[in-house]
Amino acid sequence: KGKQYSCMVRTAIPGGRLTAQQLLAELDLCELLANGTLRITSRQGLQLHGVLKSNLKASLREINRIKLTTFAACGDVNRNVMACPAPFRNDAVRAGLQEMAAQLALHFRPKTTSYFDIWLKDEDGVEQEVGEFQPVDEPIYGPRYLPRKFKMGVGLPEDNCVDLYTQDLGLLAIVENGQIIGWNVLAGGGMGRTPSAEKTSPALAKRLCFATPEQVIAVCEAIVKVQRDFGNREDRKRARLKYLIADWGVAKFRETVEQYFGGPLADPHPADVTGVDDHLGWHEQGDGRLFLGINVENGRIKDEGSLRLKAGLRAILGRFGMEVRLTALQSLILCDIDPADREEIERMMSEYGILRADQLSLLRRYAIACPAFPTCGLSITESERALPGVIDQLEVEVAKLGLQTSKLAVHMTGCPNGCARPYTPDVGLVGKAVGKYTVFVGGNPEGTRLAFIYRDMVPLEEIVPALVPLLQRYRVEREGSESFGDFCARRGPEAIGAAG
Ligand code: SF4
Repeated sequence: KGKQYSCMVRTAIPGGRLTAQQLLAELDLCELLANGTLRITSRQGLQLHGVLKSNLKASLREINRIKLTTFAACGDVNRNVMACPAPFRNDAVRAGLQEMAAQLALHFRPKTTSYFDIWLKDEDGVEQEVGEFQPVDEPIYGPRYLPRKFKMGVGLPEDNCVDLYTQDLGLLAIVENGQIIGWNVLAGGGMGRTPSAEKTSPALAKRLCFATPEQVIAVCEAIVKVQRDFGNREDRKRARLKYLIADWGVAKFRETVEQYFGGPLADPHPADVTGVDDHLGWHEQGDGRLFLGINVENGRIKDEGSLRLKAGLRAILGRFGMEVRLTALQSLILCDIDPADREEIERMMSEYGILRADQLSLLRRYAIACPAFPTCGLSITESERALPGVIDQLEVEVAKLGLQTSKLAVHMTGCPNGCARPYTPDVGLVGKAVGKYTVFVGGNPEGTRLAFIYRDMVPLEEIVPALVPLLQRYRVEREGSESFGDFCARRGPEAIGAAG
């Protein structure tokens, strides 16, 4: 018998917004054609793992049949557009964020028909003819597409749950009198780095300009086209937008964007990111109904031991049929809940072992991990399977120090590519060599600062012991209500004894 190849199948879901039927259908798919689990990604998408090559076509067809798609979820194009998922109704601002994500996703969708020809047509003769390569006009991407993947996110100053500063292009809504009056455009964020290549590094996006609602799509298009025409196509390690901006400087980059846009751009509005929310727990959504954020550890929807999350979600969605939103911290929100159903939903959660937000530590709520082993071919270390144990240990230490009420974000990845955005939270754990991690500190939950290396080549079991002395110092030496990351950044690498 020949080898069997398996694949990961990623669904792009702008703003993380989907119906109960769509999530239920993806859960069916994971059982029928994948490894029995469904994963919420760090970019508000869904991933099936272990789909056999022979089942690829059936998977993609089913995903498209339920009116979702894997189209442009990968590749050197605009990837899934992230947006704050909080479903506050009668709120023009929150609705505006979701509308912008949908608009960006549509505007930057490749025009090629090949995807549909390859995956969605029947195998009979007539349909196959359509499958021949047909050059199509790609007005934005051109014949060669972008030099590298491109990521966009849409958020608010007081709620940067989508980590705008880590995106190639972030849109920060500027709000006055309850209305979005325009957008601060942030450009050139990106996480990936290669330790052996000094020329690579993570970067925060730069505050580029302010765009009115009428201008914003054209400004975004100009940025994408500048990256298309001037991004590095010789060296894939330096092909992301952040390197073009690093090489040119912001002034030259902005001038070129202005040329493509066809006019001058205004300076950014002074507003900036001030907060973050994981949207877990019960919230009034503004129309008499409630929404409920449920933590999904590392995004993995599965049944294991007493926590039967997959079965529980099936039961709740099957019964109430509510809209669902995926969060940027790999969790999910159930929308439009009648307050009269709250008690029953809590009963069902308890029946399936699903914990409420108030039963979870802040540490666990704000922790995310990339999949790494066994499904990511680039992984160097464990990540998703290791992080729960790290959090278990850290919870004990944080409780001993009485720091439970401090928001402390830990992001872990199995390699320096940084899919779970490990270079901006309070603590970033990045796989470096077999079983060993680089420990970063000094970022923050709001994602506005790059962390620095605290320790390198730390074995998994020594990560928490390495952090404890620093947490002890934080408890004693912190100023006012500063966070752990703020403390580390204020003191700096030398004063905290960083040995990067
Ligand atoms: Fe794979 Fe590395 Fe991304 Fe993790 S960070 S999913 S190991 S590429």
